[in-house]
Amino acid sequence: EMFGQLTTGLESAWNKLKGEEVLTKENIVEPMRDIRRALLEADVSLPVVRRFVQDVSEQAVGVGVIRGVRPDQQLVKIVSDELVKLMGGEVSQLTFAKSGPTVILLAGLQGVGKTTVSAKLALYLKKQASPGKSCMLIAGDVYRPAAIDQLVILGKQVDVPVYAVGTDIKPAEIARQGLQEAKKKNVDVVIMDTAGRLQIDKTMMEELKDVKRTLNPTEVLLVVDAMTGQEAAALVTTFNVEIGITGAILTKLDGDSRGGAALSVKEVSGKPIKLVGRGERMEDLEPFYPDRMAGRILGMGDVLSFVEKAQEVMRQEDAEDLQKKIMSAKFDFNDFLKQTRAVARMGSMSRVLGMIPGMGKVTPAQIREAEKSLLIMEAMIEVMTPEEREKPELLAESPARRKRVAQESGKTEQQVSQLVAQLFQMRVRMKNLLGVMEGGSVPALSN
Ligand code: GDP
Repeated sequence: EMFGQLTTGLESAWNKLKGEEVLTKENIVEPMRDIRRALLEADVSLPVVRRFVQDVSEQAVGVGVIRGVRPDQQLVKIVSDELVKLMGGEVSQLTFAKSGPTVILLAGLQGVGKTTVSAKLALYLKKQASPGKSCMLIAGDVYRPAAIDQLVILGKQVDVPVYAVGTDIKPAEIARQGLQEAKKKNVDVVIMDTAGRLQIDKTMMEELKDVKRTLNPTEVLLVVDAMTGQEAAALVTTFNVEIGITGAILTKLDGDSRGGAALSVKEVSGKPIKLVGRGERMEDLEPFYPDRMAGRILGMGDVLSFVEKAQEVMRQEDAEDLQKKIMSAKFDFNDFLKQTRAVARMGSMSRVLGMIPGMGKVTPAQIREAEKSLLIMEAMIEVMTPEEREKPELLAESPARRKRVAQESGKTEQQVSQLVAQLFQMRVRMKNLLGVMEGGSVPALSN
């Protein structure tokens, strides 16, 4: 089981919360200690662990109670979200050149799986999309003749041509010739394998710099071994500082690695893990999905989706409360503001607009327009005094107040007047809808 020890370590954190009703500053102390220990034992780098524990603690104490969700389940969800964030959030796709061949330069220490990855990557790209990309491999590991033979064999296996010219030429020259050949053959993607050393040394870095200058690569990927834990993150940082890289490929995730590399690389180096190797077969290379990785680590998919559903229900109820208020025509600028924020939170204008009487079907263009004007409204409401927010009449009656709001929000007086008028129109429309016609006139703004 991948990262099994980490999973077990975290489990003891949730277990300590069984029987609790809410998350408090006090009752998370023990679980947080477990989380810290589990991460350190997984060889996550210490500064990363510190920040992670602090972020999770802050959120855990600040999180509101969700009906039906237990504190331990809430903590699982918070930890999951933070793990995903830690690993870079979104999957980090490979970049392709807009014109000419995409050039991928692979670097890394000896034995990490660089040569294997070269061929795996070629196969991955060839298969990825139909009609797939045509690839060419360049054998640049001049210090290990066996590596060149190995790449030629692997190239045959995945049916991708290998440009190999032996070991008597400088890597940068091999790169130049190989690239020329690729251009001649109209190849989509060129992947160059380079020499690794047991340790970082100056010659290796200088050679890599020369090769990089020659190739002007689209991607420079450092291949690191997951078994090296947080050392992998340190390596990514060093290579990035020395030669500039675009990301990392983490190999040997199928072994009994503890997770430190996967969890530390992005946070320590600022560079994403783009792909992971999960076995010795040519097919065993895949994109690095932070959310799936977090899911595997926690092994609690059902809890996560349960908490997400509960959160969604709660948001829905918030929205319904607001709707009631709208209908009762006590709707003031505070409600207006709450609504704009609810909109941002739900990320779905159309649903909310659908809830407001009189705004039924809306087109995407209307939604964008509405979103823009909501931002403007928000800016104006934010500079209103608490009194003005509660009693929109104050603004309707006083040009001086409207002028002040305009000045402080950087909008025009006309925009402020429009906003005030809009609020009253909304009230009227709601009253009409409720069949309460009396007293719902729109006050004319006094000048
Ligand atoms: P290089 O020196 O960096 O070029 O490393 P190689 O490509 O020669 O790989 C070294 C060893 O690691 C080989 O035996 C590979 O089969 C093995 N290897 C590479 N990637 C993986 C992986 O993702 N999982 C496993 N289990 N072994 C791998």
